[in-house]
This record gives sequence, C-alpha cells and structure tokens, in this order.
Amino acid sequence: MSDTSHLHGAEFLKSQTAGLSEPAGSKALGESTERSAKQVREMAATIPQWQDWREAAHRIKRYAVAHLDKLLAEFERNISVRGVTVLYAADAAEANRLVIQIAQEHGVKRVVKSKTMVSEEMELNHALADVGVTALETDLGEYLVQLAGQRPTHIVTPALHLSAEDCGRLFADKLDEPYTAEHKALTDIARRHLREEYLRADMGVSGVNFAVAETGTIAIVENEGNAGLSTSAPPVHVALMGIEKVIPRIEHLPVFLNLLGRSGTGQKLTSYTHLIHGATPGKKMYVIILDNGRTRALADPKTRVALACIRCGSCLNNCPVYRRVGGWAYGWVYPGPIGSIITPQLVGLEKAGKLPFASSLCGACAEACPVKIDIAHQLVYLRHRAAKEPSPVRSMAERLMWKSWAWSMSGPLRYWLTMTAVRIGVRLAKFLPWHPLQLGAWTRGRELPRVPKATFRGNWRHNEK
Ligand code: SF4
Repeated sequence: MSDTSHLHGAEFLKSQTAGLSEPAGSKALGESTERSAKQVREMAATIPQWQDWREAAHRIKRYAVAHLDKLLAEFERNISVRGVTVLYAADAAEANRLVIQIAQEHGVKRVVKSKTMVSEEMELNHALADVGVTALETDLGEYLVQLAGQRPTHIVTPALHLSAEDCGRLFADKLDEPYTAEHKALTDIARRHLREEYLRADMGVSGVNFAVAETGTIAIVENEGNAGLSTSAPPVHVALMGIEKVIPRIEHLPVFLNLLGRSGTGQKLTSYTHLIHGATPGKKMYVIILDNGRTRALADPKTRVALACIRCGSCLNNCPVYRRVGGWAYGWVYPGPIGSIITPQLVGLEKAGKLPFASSLCGACAEACPVKIDIAHQLVYLRHRAAKEPSPVRSMAERLMWKSWAWSMSGPLRYWLTMTAVRIGVRLAKFLPWHPLQLGAWTRGRELPRVPKATFRGNWRHNEK
C-alpha cells in the first residue's frame, strides 16, 4: 500500500487547506471551476446524442469492471506478443519495486514523466529519488506543482490554484528566468527547459487512459505533446495503469474519447490521442498493472461502479464543496466527489471514513459524470458503512450518540420515552452551572431549538377536543 500517512480523514477542512482557505484562493478556484463546468454544459447541450454516449459508456465500463479477470488476461496476451513486458503489482510498494528494478536493469538515472495519477498513488517520485533516480514531471501543471514542492489540487488541471503571477515568480525563483506573467512567455520557458530533459532522459513513465483488451493497445490522451515525447524519446517506456483501465474492444474507444475531452476541458477531442500497440523497434516497453485496493472496491457490488471513473474531473468542477475547499483538503491523490468515494475504498474507511461526509449531496456531480456514476448514492452508502464499521476517526461518544438515536427512533414507545426524558432534562438544565447540550462544533454555529411546552400530539388532542 502506498504511503497514506498524510491522509487523515478527520482533518478534512483543517490543516490540509492552508492557502486555499484564504478568500482570494477559494474565489479564484470557484471562478475557474464554474467556468469549466459551464463550458462543458453548453457543449453537451449542443450534442443530441450526449445522453446516449453517457449510457453507452456506463454500460461498457460496467461490463469491463465485471469481467476484469478475462479482459486483463486478453490485454496482456495481445500486447505481449509485440514485445511488451506486462507486470502486475498488488500495491504501491510492489509497483515502486518493479519500476526501480526496471530502472536499475537499464542503468536509468533520469526519468521524464507524463501525467499519471497512479504514480501519485505510488509516490513514485520519492521512491525513485531514494535510489538516486531523478523524476521530472512534464505535464505543465504537474511541472509547476513539482517546482513549487506542492501536491496537485485537481486531477486534470493540477496547478489550478496557481495564478500566472505565481508561475512567473516560481520560474524566476527555481529556474532563474526573468519574471513574467505573460501566458505565452511562461509556456515558452517551460518548453525550453523540458525539451532538453526529453533528450537526456533514460526512461519515460506515462499513465494509461484506456487499455483495449481486443487489440492490446494503450490509449493516452493529452494536450501538450509531452506524453508523446515522454513515451517515444527515451529508450525505455514504462506505462502505469490501474486494473480498471481496460475496455473490451477497439470500437468502444471512440465513445470514451468523445466524452473525456468534452467533460474534462470542454474540447471536442484532446489535442493528441496516442494509440500504442507495442514497443518501438530497438526500445523497451513495460506495462505495470496496479491493484492497490481496487479489488477491495470490486468485491462490493454496491461500490464497484466507482471503478468506471475515467478521471475527467467534471465532478470536481461541479461540486460546491470542492469549489470552496480545493483539492488538498481531501488529503490524498483523488479530490472532490470522486475522491470522496474512491479514496475510502482504496485506502479503507478506517483512514478516510470522513470523506463521504464531505458533500452536500446536491447531486451535481452525478449529473455531470460522463459515465453516469451515481456518486450521491455511493456517498450515502459509504456513510452508512462508515457509521457501522469501527473507525478511529469517529469518537466513542459519536458512536454512542448514533446508537442511542437509532434505538429511540425504532418504536413509538421508545420515541415517547426519549422525548419525555429530553423535555425533563432541558427544563432541569437551567439549574446546572454548565449547559449539557453544548455539542462542540454542532452548537458553536447553531442554536438548538427551544423545547415547546406541549408536544405536537398533546396539542393535536387538545385542539380536537
Ligand atoms: S466520477 Fe465521473 S465526473 Fe468524476 S472524474 Fe470520474 S468520470 Fe469524471
């Protein structure tokens, strides 16, 4: 399992939000996510078959998730015949060991990486640094975040929280470039620095957006050309994928490409779509397929649909909670609504049991999701499980309170007894030196309603007479 020691579900909205909880930070985040969400809505409204695409994608993914064993074996068979080595990793530690082993076999000292969320799960950059290998992010957002020594705040636009001025200062500080906040000048600086790195790198590491079982093809989508260079320039290419990335047939790919670009950034199609069928002659290619908690999610028929996610980021852009708190508040790799359902399943409710509660359950995420994941229902179900399962993030007092509440609500007599006790208790409370109903954070920002003299039933009987 990857290092999740920094993940404290109980700290949601506390220490992890430093910076983004500033009014200016959340305002900028809110505005850019709202802009992206609006762009996607407008784009979807012009496509009559949008809902058909969503339904088709949902069905294909559900089928793929239900047949992962067969599809992964088929994918492995078909890509191996073209010289690609396929390896499986049960957890992040094993995946890191495999990457390091490959790096050492090929004498690798410098790695260029294109965007891969799986490598974030693995904390791959740190693992490589520990054995003396330098890993450089080449996706512009990831590059900025790496230079700043931060974590991505969004799964599609990792540096969403940085302004052009922030980027200018960062380049001046870290790359010794003259300060500028002009967008083209900034991208020129990044391009100039990164170009050299592709040529010097001994190994490229990429993610995988889709792995086609029928043809043994991996599909990688991107906008900057960095994935193309990272996968083709160095002599070794390692592609990292979660087990859920496999889809059955090549004819299924277009529906996902249609949805992913549009839902992620409002583009009809991303600028580049790479279909890699095997190793380039004279070069080596490896695919590492990672579980890291996914089979745990798969084991529960109620939650396995979360594995259908294509990481478009649309649910983040539409989430009123994410818009206010940003990505770091969620404590691990996947923020926003998808993070609130996938993180507890990958790392366990005992670590991330608070995340399913980080939602208003407004349902905007599910409406925006291109593969129709019922995120709000998943959240409610995970809340139910979090309430039932023992968890260090929930206190004994909270558990006792919910147990008593469930007992008192499960019969009219119990309810009457409880309410009578509450009424007597509240009346007696005024004689105490402290108020027994000061419930910490619950009553700090709210007033408890006054208990009326007569009950509703009492009033009803009285009025009937
Ligand atoms: S849950 Fe749906 S909307 Fe959210 S990132 Fe995944 S595919 Fe996109």
